[in-house]
Amino acid sequence: MNTISIVFGIVWAVWGGAYYALLFGSRDVALKKRCFPYILLGFNGSFLAFLFLIEIPMSAMIIVTPVVILLTYNEYITTRYCRWCGGTLTNMLTARFTADRCPWCKKSIDYVH
Ligand SMILES: [Zn+2]
Repeated sequence: MNTISIVFGIVWAVWGGAYYALLFGSRDVALKKRCFPYILLGFNGSFLAFLFLIEIPMSAMIIVTPVVILLTYNEYITTRYCRWCGGTLTNMLTARFTADRCPWCKKSIDYVH
């Protein structure tokens, strides 16, 4: 473990904690819609920064960067919130959106992006 790896581990843990606290600890849709893009960018952007800092081969960077950007965009557009209770219904990491009822309030699904 070098210094960069340790620092990155801490940074990513903080972003990850903020990510889950926001999506699953809050029921405030307006707050989530305002903060989620920044947290997503911080989370995935710090990952790209880490790869750059540990100097992975440029050929790998050329492949990884667009993939991370696409996954980030996909996660952003697929994350939805319950209209009734404000709970997060789905995002790419949890794939919670499988039932026809909100897992939090049990009302039938009627989401807002
Ligand atoms: Zn709900």
